Amino acid sequence: MSLTIGVTGGVGSGKSTVARAFATHGIDWVDADDVAREVVEPGEPALTDIVDHFGPGVLTADGHLDRRALRSIVFSDEAERRWLESVTHPRIRERLEAHLARMAATDTPYHLLVSPLLFESDQHRLVDRCLVIDIPEALQISRTASRDSVDEEQARAIVAAQMPRQKRLAKADDVIDNSGDADDLAHQVARLDRLYRRHRETS
Ligand code: ADP
Repeated sequence: MSLTIGVTGGVGSGKSTVARAFATHGIDWVDADDVAREVVEPGEPALTDIVDHFGPGVLTADGHLDRRALRSIVFSDEAERRWLESVTHPRIRERLEAHLARMAATDTPYHLLVSPLLFESDQHRLVDRCLVIDIPEALQISRTASRDSVDEEQARAIVAAQMPRQKRLAKADDVIDNSGDADDLAHQVARLDRLYRRHRETS
């Protein structure tokens, strides 16, 4: 069986970048954000439930989910946010489990579940080890702002709404410090690749 490594970190910490670095070692991954988008694509039962509940105002003209409209409803309404999660989370989890089962059955030594909500959505129960990508908040804000073309104030608000850095770090089995350059990151990923291959041999 292939080991499952959960990769998490705040917005802009470098989760996707780290996943691509592991891929250069032949490692496969599933991204929980991609799966979260898939479950609300047109034709999916979760989208039908959402439109039945919130009305057609949460759809774009071409029938896709209007994330911005939905966000503005649930952002200020805790009960609606919980309802939305009760519709999407079980479906996300079901798909994640199917992806993980498929990857676990291969003969690669390990694979990744990349998720911003690894701890918050209890997805850490699906993994053997948790890898946290850590960067100082100021860098997180500047990298998020330049990637997403939001201003620093908006990036700061997103960071503030997420799990605090120290709380996330306290739950980590392994940590990547992504405050350095691409070379530095590649070295840390190579070191962890060796570690995870050894774990697989001894597990
Ligand atoms: P996440 O998936 O955690 O939100 P990303 O992997 O998209 O984060 O990284 C956020 C941004 O920071 C991206 O634009 C990415 O190219 C950049 N980035 C990631 N790691 C580094 C690094 N070590 N040095 C410089 N820029 C980086």
